[in-house]
Parts: sequence; structure tokens; C-alpha cells
Amino acid sequence: MISVRDGQNRILTQITRSTSPEIIALADALGRVLVDDARAPFDVPPTDNSAVDGYAIGSADIPTGGPRELSVVANLPAGAVLGDVLERGQAVRIMTGAPMPAGADTVYPQEIVERRGDHVRVGAIERGANVRYRGEDVAAGAVVVPRGSVLRPQELGLLASLGHTQVAVAQRPRIALLSTGDEVAEPGTPRKPGQIYDANRFTLRGLVEQCGGHVTDLGIVPDDREILRARLLDASRVADIVITSGGVSVGDYDLVKAVLAEVGGIEFWQVAMQPGRPMAVGRIGAAHFFGLPGNPVASTLTFVLFVRPALFKLAGRRRIFPETWQARTLEPLRKKTGRREFKRGVLQYASGSWEVRTTGPQGSGILSSMVAGNCFIVLEEDRADVAAGEMVTVEPFTCSW
Ligand code: AMP
Ligand code: MG
Repeated sequence: MISVRDGQNRILTQITRSTSPEIIALADALGRVLVDDARAPFDVPPTDNSAVDGYAIGSADIPTGGPRELSVVANLPAGAVLGDVLERGQAVRIMTGAPMPAGADTVYPQEIVERRGDHVRVGAIERGANVRYRGEDVAAGAVVVPRGSVLRPQELGLLASLGHTQVAVAQRPRIALLSTGDEVAEPGTPRKPGQIYDANRFTLRGLVEQCGGHVTDLGIVPDDREILRARLLDASRVADIVITSGGVSVGDYDLVKAVLAEVGGIEFWQVAMQPGRPMAVGRIGAAHFFGLPGNPVASTLTFVLFVRPALFKLAGRRRIFPETWQARTLEPLRKKTGRREFKRGVLQYASGSWEVRTTGPQGSGILSSMVAGNCFIVLEEDRADVAAGEMVTVEPFTCSW
């Protein structure tokens, strides 16, 4: 038996480089992984400018006693630049975002002044008020988005504000997916007695796509040695990662083991976790291989624990593991020490704290528990039974980090 963490480490050390870069339009780059640090070519904002609609003045004109009249000598919309230098006793009408005129260092919001003809009456104000300074958002040369970042909408906007139209991103890792089992039928085809429709290939496709991978769907393979061998070899030629589900257990028709022993360098792992069945990890040719268990919850969980970090590393992502949180369990939870257990939970904020309950029956074939839930409850190896009210680790179902 190996621990979850040992398994993850062994997998990550196998992945020594990421996919090659490609240059794509910024507008198409949502969710992709940046290959190089993005630096600011200039200060943002490029000049000191007004944060409000109002009147720019030199601070020497801020009155200390009663109000003071200043003459309004120019009108400055956003995008316009004043050529003249502001003199004592003068003010400039200025709009939000317009560059500060030379000689001005403070802006009165229009709401707090009285405008009369070409004069404006002003009172006390803090020196430097309502000015946004050159470079206060981003200084020229600074790294604004580090390499390995996933481009979210806000990164796209920031890169656009720096004038970029294209970005170098890692190519999407190519993932070949196939299901195994004589009992597994393709949805949309007739289901013979004793058959079940394939769930795993659809869940796994969704997971891969959510993680930024590109899926090649190789369908369902019957429990037949020759067909399985041929399909796995095909898969290894078109993919960076090959994923199967089912057939890695100890049943009479669990052929994945036998076939892999012939075509690849594979280890069979018994991981100290629950749900957990044996899984297979290794290589076929140049492709990384993951033989996941057949039970839908187990295949999802083993994907999240072992395949996702591999896929993220291959995709050049800086962050490989998700953030976890602490919440108070509303129910007692049965737990065996010495292994890591994962329950499907419903996390919610109620009466002033984060609370979590399970989704009900936790059998590893119960896919509806994943649908009812919004997080995994993670019970670490050293924990025993948990009483209601204790704090537990939760990992929300999300890929947006
Ligand atoms: P196995 O590891 O092949 O013995 O499969 C374990 C359990 O998972 C069995 O009940 C299978 O019928 C089920 N199973 C295997 N593959 C799938 C699949 N693609 N979709 C849903 N259930 C599956
Ligand atoms: Mg099977």
C-alpha cells in the first residue's frame, strides 16, 4: 500500500517537461496556461490622472482659512492633454482619467465646489486628493502575470491593457479516454440485459476538459485481450496521457493488468484510500498511462487525486493542488485510521460558520452522490471516527484555481 501523497509524488516525478508552447490570439486564451512571465512594457496608468470629475489645482492654492475663488482656465476631457502650466490662482475643469496638467497636484470633486461663470469656489481639501499616480497599478518592467498562470478573464483584460494581442501558451495536453468492460454499453444504443450505460467516459471527458486537456475518445473496449492491446497501443500514439476505467481489479475479466504488462511499463497500486480499488500507473510508449477503477466515484476520485496533478504539470501550470478549507461536520463520520477517506459533502455557510454534511450513502458506485455534493470531505490518514461538531478538511468541486 502507498499513501495518496506518495502516489502523487511518484507521478509528478515522472513528468519532467510540459507540452510545447503555441502562440494564440489573446481573445482565444481563456483557461490556457501562460508560458513566459508577462511584464509591463510601460507604467499603468501611463501618467498621473484624475480619479474624479472635478477641478485640478496646485496645492499652493488650497485655502487654509475660508473659501477661495480660482479662475477656470481650461476644460480637460479624458484623453486630452493640457499644453500650458497651471499658475497660482488657476483651476482646470478635468474629467476622470484625464492626465493631470503640469502645475496641478490635487483634484476637487465637482460635488464639493461652487462653480460661478468662469470661477470656482473651493474650500479645504487634502493635498494630492483624487489623483491616480503613474505606475500605481503596474510599474514598467514588473511581472504582471507569472508563467504557469491560468488565464482568467481578469488576466486577459490586464494583458490587453498592456497592448498585447497574442500570448504564448502551453498546448493543451492530449488525453485519450477509453472504457473497458463487456457490460458497458454506449448511451444511445440498445442496452442488453445485464449491461449498464457508460458513465465514466463522460465524467472523465468533463474532468479533462475542465482541466484544460483535449480529449480523444476511443470508446468502449470489450473484455478481450487482443482488442484491448490494439486499442491501448493506438491510444499511446495519439496522446500524452491514456486513461482507461474498469478492468484493473482482481476479477476474472480484469484484463488491463495482463495486457499492460505486455505493452508498457506499468505498476499496480493499492493506495491507502477509500473509496479505493487498485489502479494502474505507468507508461505505454511515450504516453503516461492511468488505469482507473470502474466504479464511477472511484474513477472520479482517482482522476482528481492522481491524473489531474499530472495533467496540470504537463500543461505547465504553477499550481498543481487545490486549496482546501475547514468546516464543521454536522454528522458523525466513520473513519478507519491509516488511510485517507473521501466522502461527498454539501458545504454551506449557515448560522455564522461553514458547515458540511454528507450526501447520504457513500458507496463507490453511487454517482448521484457526486451530483448531490459540492465538495469532498477529506479525512486524513491519522484520523479515527469523527464526532459531529468537529472540524474537517473540505475540498470544493471546482477547477477554477
Ligand atoms: P471493474 O473494475 O471493471 O470490475 O468495474 C467495477 C464496477 O464499475 C463494475 O460494477 C462495473 O460495471 C462498473 N463500471 C465499469 N466501467 C464503467 C463505466 N464506464 N461506467 C459505469 N460503470 C462502470
Ligand atoms: Mg470490468
